[in-house]
Amino acid sequence: MANTILIVEDDINIAQMLSIALRTEGYDCVQASNVADAIAMFLRTPPDLVILDLGLPDGEGAHVLARIRQTSRLPVLVLSARDQETDKVQLLSQGANDYVSKPFGIKELVVRVKVLLRDFNPTVVTASANRTMGNISLSIKERTLSIDNHVIPLAPKELQLLDELTKQPGEFISQQELLRRIWGLHHSEDSHYIRILVRQLRKKIDEHNCASTFIETMPKRGYRFNVT
Ligand code: CA
Repeated sequence: MANTILIVEDDINIAQMLSIALRTEGYDCVQASNVADAIAMFLRTPPDLVILDLGLPDGEGAHVLARIRQTSRLPVLVLSARDQETDKVQLLSQGANDYVSKPFGIKELVVRVKVLLRDFNPTVVTASANRTMGNISLSIKERTLSIDNHVIPLAPKELQLLDELTKQPGEFISQQELLRRIWGLHHSEDSHYIRILVRQLRKKIDEHNCASTFIETMPKRGYRFNVT
């Protein structure tokens, strides 16, 4: 059965170009041109992958991403004219799987779609509801980190990072390995993703008046959850 791709894009020319190119590759395409339709279509018939434009007439594409991530891990490729690194990293930390800046080459985009569909493992993460280490507790289900009495809500990638680190407490995990586990094989060289994600998470923990020293960085070795 062909994979279905939901194209969320208000520029009709771009939507048509994407749709034609992807149909040629054997994918089924459905289209939405605003946030409300995109969410309705996602809920009615969940697609296999979403291509998401950020600037939509009734709101930000990021809202669509947030709604998808409440219930699904399906691959989302963000499409945007905004090529600033911070936007990009922010979206990736909010759960986008890849990002293409406009103007883009259609061939490159098709390749990225194929890679995302190939790498996507629909197996749902089945972790125990809570993982407690000393005064720190990670709730996968609630998506929170609790330190003493402080409860810190986590963005999807922050949760994934802590999930990976706390699975192997005390052990260093390399940047490449974390990139591979969190963003997929084709991002194993994008070390800035992980640096920015860690910085953002530490800042968030500090803002809750907690110490983020349990996330330890060591050049060349990677990151670890330090239980001491
Ligand atoms: Ca747009």
